[in-house]
Amino acid sequence: MSRPSYLCRLSQHYPISRFCASHLPGWENQGELVFVTSRECRDITPEEASEYILGYTIGNDLSCRFFQLPEQSGGRFFYAMDLDKFAPIGSVLVSPTIFAKETASTSLVTRINGEVKQNTVIEKDMIFFPDEILSWMSQNAFRQYSSQSFKFVKGKVTSLSVEEKTVLVDGQGLFSFDYLVIASGSTTESSITSGSTPIPFKASNSDDMRSRIKAAQELISTSSSIVIGGGGPIAVELAGELAEAAMEVEKPVSITIVSATERVLPMLKISGSEAAMKLLKNKNVVVRSSRKVIKTTPPVKGLGSWEIFLDNEEKLEADLYISATGAIPNNNFVPQEFLDEKGWVKVDQELRIRGKEGQAPLPIFAAGDITNNSMRLSFKAQEQAAVVAANIIADISGRTTRRSYDQGQCILMMVPVGSTGGTGQVFGLTPWSVMVRLIKGRDYFISKAASAVTA
Ligand SMILES: Cc1cc2nc3c(=O)[nH]c(=O)nc-3n(C[C@H](O)[C@H](O)[C@H](O)COP(=O)(O)OP(=O)(O)OC[C@H]3O[C@@H](n4cnc5c(N)ncnc54)[C@H](O)[C@@H]3O)c2cc1C
Repeated sequence: MSRPSYLCRLSQHYPISRFCASHLPGWENQGELVFVTSRECRDITPEEASEYILGYTIGNDLSCRFFQLPEQSGGRFFYAMDLDKFAPIGSVLVSPTIFAKETASTSLVTRINGEVKQNTVIEKDMIFFPDEILSWMSQNAFRQYSSQSFKFVKGKVTSLSVEEKTVLVDGQGLFSFDYLVIASGSTTESSITSGSTPIPFKASNSDDMRSRIKAAQELISTSSSIVIGGGGPIAVELAGELAEAAMEVEKPVSITIVSATERVLPMLKISGSEAAMKLLKNKNVVVRSSRKVIKTTPPVKGLGSWEIFLDNEEKLEADLYISATGAIPNNNFVPQEFLDEKGWVKVDQELRIRGKEGQAPLPIFAAGDITNNSMRLSFKAQEQAAVVAANIIADISGRTTRRSYDQGQCILMMVPVGSTGGTGQVFGLTPWSVMVRLIKGRDYFISKAASAVTA
């Protein structure tokens, strides 16, 4: 499997990096059958694989032999091939239909300066066929990375020792580190406390997400009145979805948002908030503005209603109370000295945790929601991950230039209100409702999740 930077045309002169050229001779040409996929695929069977193969061509799978020695590549066998332009391919793409007819008789010949180095009938040489290989590759999102380059430990970090440079993983002992990145993110009140109906917006350290979602869906489907605490994007999106679902099944459900701010989505321009209010009103969602939920009590033994107490001594009652009042840091294992007053990890512009005054910088970074950068959004987490990676590489290679992270002032937000439209802010402008529907409202970016996970 080749990353884009490895690819080039077979007929092209490809420059060899100084790094590699300094270790010549000792590199190997290897003619290979290449298949090109037409789109991303996950967990497909060999039978399904052919639908994803756009065509076939040939390639030269170059290796810089020196770096295949474990001691030269840190034990990463594939490092020798992980070099720019080391996968020249092409220049003709043969359609799968023609390839299927011709495989039995097609041979692959590799010549170096006219001398034949390899001459093989493709079908005879294949241990696994392209369909089987693609199916196998699609099983594991991390397969694109060499297994030597990382280790996946499934467990919960329960403590961190800066002096010992270790983390303790629940039930699995100590793991030592040269560098540590804290990326433990955040959760929400409705995922972890008894002050809200359990809705797993983000159930950290939980493997039973499916059953928790199902339980939440069942509770919602049997309710006739729902109060949502909070006037941010989660509250507005949730209210829109619930109201639309109720309308679809023609069930009267009263939905109320309690917003501490005067307008919902206060981070947006006024026109964005007004658009949200209008869309919510069209779906019969009531908004109680400038009111705070100060206490809630759940139904006793599952019977009766939730009681929701507001800051004007008013009491609301509902079948469900769902808290959507912001993010809670997953910081149980992080030493107190690294946290700000709200529990977020304090980082500098390099996203590094600074040690005590006058001491050397710590080899500890943080990225994503857990940092004290206030814009807790997934694309911001990805930007931060890139900065942290660059700075760790700079540290290791002794470079003095460092990358900085600045979250900026620019709000980039799409807030669907049901599947038909929404509001938001894009480069200072309020997007058209239909644009929000097309960009986010149809699947809430779920289709992008797999590629985000595999980076
Ligand atoms: C309902 C909802 C809707 C959202 N919609 C959007 C949106 O439309 N657009 C957008 O950009 N952002 C959105 N966000 C925000 C986005 O989800 C976050 O910004 C993003 O998930 C942050 O990523 P992260 O990796 O920093 O943290 P997280 O996604 O929180 O991941 C942290 C991971 O660390 C694990 N963890 C925690 N503690 C430990 C521990 N002690 N040991 C080991 N592992 C641990 C957790 O289980 C989790 O897997 C939304 C958030 C919510 C709740």
